[in-house]
Amino acid sequence: MKTIGLIGGMSFESTTIYYQMINEAVRERLGGLHSAEILIHSVNFESIVALQKAGRWDAAGARLAGVAAGLETAGADCILICTNTMHLVSEAVQAAVKGPVIHIVDETARALKAAGRQRPLLLATRYTMEHGFYTERMKAHGLDVMVPDADGRTLMHDVIFGELCQGKVHDLSRDRVMKVIETARAQGADSVILGCTEICLLLDPDALPLPGFDSTAIHAAAAVDFALADIAQHRAA
Ligand code: GLU
Repeated sequence: MKTIGLIGGMSFESTTIYYQMINEAVRERLGGLHSAEILIHSVNFESIVALQKAGRWDAAGARLAGVAAGLETAGADCILICTNTMHLVSEAVQAAVKGPVIHIVDETARALKAAGRQRPLLLATRYTMEHGFYTERMKAHGLDVMVPDADGRTLMHDVIFGELCQGKVHDLSRDRVMKVIETARAQGADSVILGCTEICLLLDPDALPLPGFDSTAIHAAAAVDFALADIAQHRAA
C-alpha cells in the first residue's frame, strides 16, 4: 500500500472527514483490520486565511510547497491539498515534490463526466468561484461551470468561513443554499459541485434537487485508488 500525504487543517473540520473516509474505504476494500497509511501535516488555518485575505497567494504557495516537501521526505507517495481553494497554488505545491499532487478539480471533473453532467453549479469560497483557476480547469475538461450571482457567492463564502470551518451547521443556512441551487436549476444547471471540502457538513449530496458531487468524497476516493493501485493489480494477476 502506498502512503497518502494530506495537507490538512484548512479547515480541520474537513481534514477529519478525509481521514475517516480514506480509512473506511481502505477497510472496505481490504477487509479485516486494514487501514490506510497516512501522513498528515495540519496547518494553522488562521495563518493561511491571513494570506488569502491579503491576496498573498505566492506566500501561501511557498508555505504549502514546504509542507508537501516535508510530507514527501517523511514517506508520502502522493499529496492531497485538502481544500479546493488552496488548489489555486497547486502548481507551486506540485513543483516541490516528485510524486503526484492528486488534483481535486481533475478528479471532480472526471466524476461529473462519468455521470454525463455538463453544466454544474459550483458552490465554494469566493476565491474558488471568482478567481478563475477552478472554472478554467473545468473548462479544459469540457465542463461549463456556473456560479451563483453576487448575493449567492457572498452567502456561500460567509457560510463556509463563518460557520462550517468553525464547526457550526445551521438549518437556516441550508435553506438559503437550497434556494441558490433551485435558482441555478431554473437557469439550466444539471448538477451541483460541493466545491468546498466542508460543504458536506451542511448538504447531503444525495438529497439535492440536482445530482450532487462532493469534492471531499471524490478526492478521498482518488487517494485510495492511488494507494491501493498496486494491490488491485496484484490481486487481478
Ligand atoms: N476547505 C475549503 C475549500 O475547500 C475552504 C477553506 C480554504 O479557504 O482553504 O475551499
